[in-house]
Amino acid sequence: MEENQLRKLPSMETILSNSEVKELYKLYPRNLVKEAVNDLLVKIRLDSKTNLRLDISLPSIIYEVQQFLSKKKIRKVLNGTGVLLHTNLGRSPLPMISCVKVLEVMSSYSNLEYNLFSGERGSRLEYIEYLITKLTGGESAFVVNNNAGAVLLVLSAFCQDKEVIVSRGELVEIGGSFRVPDIMMQSSAKLVEVGTTNITRLSDYAQAINEKTAALLKVHPSNFSIKGFTEQVDLKELTRLGREKNLITIEDLGSGLLKNYFKELLKPEPTVEDSLKAEVDLVLFSGDKLLGGPQCGIIIGKKHLIKRIEQHPLSRALRIDKMTVAALEAVLELYFDESRLLLESPLFRMLLMDISELRKRVGYILKKVKNKKYLETIEGVSTTGGGSLPDCAIPTILITVKKEGKTAEELSRYFRDSNPPLIGTINNDTFTIDLRTILETQDEELVTLLNGV
Ligand SMILES: *Cc1c(COP(=O)(O)O)cnc(C)c1O
Repeated sequence: MEENQLRKLPSMETILSNSEVKELYKLYPRNLVKEAVNDLLVKIRLDSKTNLRLDISLPSIIYEVQQFLSKKKIRKVLNGTGVLLHTNLGRSPLPMISCVKVLEVMSSYSNLEYNLFSGERGSRLEYIEYLITKLTGGESAFVVNNNAGAVLLVLSAFCQDKEVIVSRGELVEIGGSFRVPDIMMQSSAKLVEVGTTNITRLSDYAQAINEKTAALLKVHPSNFSIKGFTEQVDLKELTRLGREKNLITIEDLGSGLLKNYFKELLKPEPTVEDSLKAEVDLVLFSGDKLLGGPQCGIIIGKKHLIKRIEQHPLSRALRIDKMTVAALEAVLELYFDESRLLLESPLFRMLLMDISELRKRVGYILKKVKNKKYLETIEGVSTTGGGSLPDCAIPTILITVKKEGKTAEELSRYFRDSNPPLIGTINNDTFTIDLRTILETQDEELVTLLNGV
């Protein structure tokens, strides 16, 4: 960019007095808009030195400021990816009853750590523990910030400077952010890998046990599956071996389906119920995966072990906040009434929605869209994601969008720029929206977005 072209750069005053910018003041504090404009002007001057920027007109500057203010902050989006538990899109949406409870409790003081019976200090997890133990039959429970935190805490409490035996086939990496070996290192537990990627036998665990061994660890290899010639140890046999050798058995279940509520659909998914039946000492899982609750890490198991976990200093560092307490309590209460759960948990509704229901919805949507010629509906598959059911493919209805003169990337951008933004996928150069992961209550919004193509 030429030096004299930079002189054409609108001044701060010109920008701030523009009527479109003034509109922004209705949505954002004036001082915040000013900061955004100022940052952009600084960036333009910098970029001009390297010819990075060509358009410095007032409309382009206003557009960028609008985009900056509306896209940076957390906001509602439509999930058209077909991945039910999409970590980038916040995993599980919460039941409305949870949201209402969060709003009510957060906007006031609460009895978070105050016992209303005795008038003395109370525990923030007491009722949650009650609910979890009743629901699962586990002896005791504890909840921390997330499942990675739960793994760290459990290993720190029981395996510090000791050995933990884990199958080589279970050393997973989840979304590039959670690697079991890294967590173990942080807890200064020594990882002893046994077996091979596809075959681990009970004897492999047995042979690795020595006086330094503290625990046997099972990790649910959730976001991938090793197919073909594989052999993994039965959970019951593993816990029996643990008891014989006086070792704790820990299972990182990841996705945390309490029971199989979905019969055939989620059949391959191990449940918390199965693990407790197999007498695993400590079962760990996320709150925002197949439980359908807020982000947290739930630990269920033997009372004397949970007590030691509670007393570990890390438990204070990893404790859940009151928003999580409120949201989780409401979700767990729902589990006591399964018919309500299936109706009110958005995650369960989306998972269980019959393909015929999706056909009906797409029919309604298409009826309301004016430019149907850009759209096509085809059958496809949704996945659960979030470290569950690697093999589970759920039949779904996809809406593909094609428009002459527009690439799939341009369409993808249009939907990302829209209000609310919609995130889809690009398959075979075609922008695709999976209807299963769009909440039923968002069909109208989808119609509006499709009408704008
Ligand atoms: C998802 C997952 C984790 C990490 O859980 P966060 O709640 O995201 O911390 C750990 N282990 C397994 C097996 C998982 O699937």
